[in-house]
Amino acid sequence: MSFDAEAKMQFLFALRSKGVTDKAVLNAMERVDRGRFIQGYFTDRAYDDMPLPIACGQTISQPSVVGLMTQALKIGPRDKVLEVGTGSGYQAAILSQLARRVYTVDRHRRLVHAARAVFDALELSNITAFTADGSFGLPDQAPFDRIIVTAAAEDPPGPLLAQLKIGGIMVVPVGQSDAVQSLIRVTRTDSGYEYHEMRPVRFVPLVEGLGKD
Ligand code: SAH
Repeated sequence: MSFDAEAKMQFLFALRSKGVTDKAVLNAMERVDRGRFIQGYFTDRAYDDMPLPIACGQTISQPSVVGLMTQALKIGPRDKVLEVGTGSGYQAAILSQLARRVYTVDRHRRLVHAARAVFDALELSNITAFTADGSFGLPDQAPFDRIIVTAAAEDPPGPLLAQLKIGGIMVVPVGQSDAVQSLIRVTRTDSGYEYHEMRPVRFVPLVEGLGKD
């Protein structure tokens, strides 16, 4: 199936019915073809609202979750955004439509290389992808206006909290990897951090160190 008019309409309808209502986010998700980020057997499921397997035993997130997380970030056109967990690159591509600059990191070199190739093919020139342990953030590029973590941590990692600007927003799934986790929105204020629990989610775990491939 290609991302033709009918596939697009159904895709957008499913997103809206799951609570993705922000116009700019919906427009971004309409522009970026999820099929480009999925290879092989599962390509014909690209526009279904479900997570799908990618290389290195990881998953591309469910589109409605991508939409809800992106919407919660309230990204402005001048924002510099960090994503931890590049995976397929799909979430980063959505962010790139809304932000000035996107930095994305993954612990698997192979995923970063594959994602970069798609960013190049789609001419998404405001994304920079690195192989790194993202739990330490990216000190050289910090601070960030927005941070999104797409793997579950037991707690929001301290270095990421520290690299968030005052007034900045971070969205992160929190909880044990084998249980249902909570999606948390953290807002940094003048005096500290405010935490808001959004909804239950299920993500692969945030793992320390670099992957073998
Ligand atoms: N956002 C992705 C889906 C991410 S799946 C997409 O749109 O397709 C979660 C990703 O987090 C996996 O690719 C995994 O390798 C990565 N990850 C897990 N722990 C990490 C860490 N400490 N640093 C960087 N990436 C990590």
